[in-house]
Amino acid sequence: MNKILTVVGARPQFIKAAAVGRKLREFGLEEVLVHTGQHFDKNMSEVFFNEMEIPKPNYNLDIHSLTHGAMTGRMMEHLETVMLKERPDGVMVFGDTNSTLAGALAARKLHIPVIHVEAGLRSFNMDMPEEINRILTDRISNLLFCPTDAAIENLQKEGYANFGNTIIKNGDVMQDAAIYYAQKAAEKSTIISELELAGKPFVLATVHRQENTDNPVLLRSIFNALNKINKETPVVAPLHPRTLGISKKEGIVAEFKVIEPVGYFDMVELLKACSLVMTDSGGVQKEAFFFHKNCVTLREQTEWVELVEGGYNMLSGSHDETIIAAYQVMMTRKNDFSKNLYGAGKASEVVAKALLNWSR
Ligand code: UDP
Repeated sequence: MNKILTVVGARPQFIKAAAVGRKLREFGLEEVLVHTGQHFDKNMSEVFFNEMEIPKPNYNLDIHSLTHGAMTGRMMEHLETVMLKERPDGVMVFGDTNSTLAGALAARKLHIPVIHVEAGLRSFNMDMPEEINRILTDRISNLLFCPTDAAIENLQKEGYANFGNTIIKNGDVMQDAAIYYAQKAAEKSTIISELELAGKPFVLATVHRQENTDNPVLLRSIFNALNKINKETPVVAPLHPRTLGISKKEGIVAEFKVIEPVGYFDMVELLKACSLVMTDSGGVQKEAFFFHKNCVTLREQTEWVELVEGGYNMLSGSHDETIIAAYQVMMTRKNDFSKNLYGAGKASEVVAKALLNWSR
């Protein structure tokens, strides 16, 4: 393959595309970047392109703020037009968003090979929109890059040995980003001094999963827990616009420090400085590990099972009592973070080399 069309749309995909795109360029592959527009706020999109020096997208489809069906359908229609015009050798998609599924479906129906980075992950919760997106994307992908052994095993159990696609364990491209940008973040970010956090213990929290935000009972319960924890250890939470919107609408009050979503450099500095991470984000669970922090995951399941098995992460669910109990355990648990679970920064290079050598 020489010409890759990459589809991005949501915050974690910009971070993944930053890492993989850099390696594509290094290995002489051409990349056409398409931003679907799924995330469009300055602090959810533009800041990542600027900080991480991601090339300006060749196309911005400006599709957002729609229901799942409308969004995915409209993206497919527009992506198809771009793909017909660009005629790439492969279409690369990341993770599990509507942009991922729309890109994969549009490409496969045009007989363009689909490359899925972060394949094989499963929560086994079919009520999650992300689970639907990842299962369907995997099934129509030609090249599946799996971050972990657990992801490979999931595909094996689903019969992928019979599907004729190529499955490669490459590690996690988010670790490549964490390693590459850690120094730059330290040089550029001033968030720790701005928030007067230097040398102080604090909990870094993020909440945005639809299963938590769309259920006011659960969201209230999470905020209750964070309010109580905040009395013992200050909680700092850069909150997703969806979470901010719903909490305001439902009158769910945060007594902890809520800030606007931050850029990647600020996030890295918060991760480095915090005492504990509490999150329902997939990416942030791993980043806690990369920056040697214990994590409480505010969900019933995780796709990153090796973190739970290794004792680095504890699933608390979304009820205040179980969240507080997990906080108490994880604040004091001592862990050795030296284990190489995610490829130690080589995941994007594996992708670039495999694409260069791949033929149907
Ligand atoms: N992130 C960020 N600023 C924030 C919150 C998260 O830069 O205010 C980064 C975080 O470091 C991680 C990514 O966004 O790299 C995770 O995205 P998100 O939690 O939105 O999605 P998920 O990983 O759950 O799909």
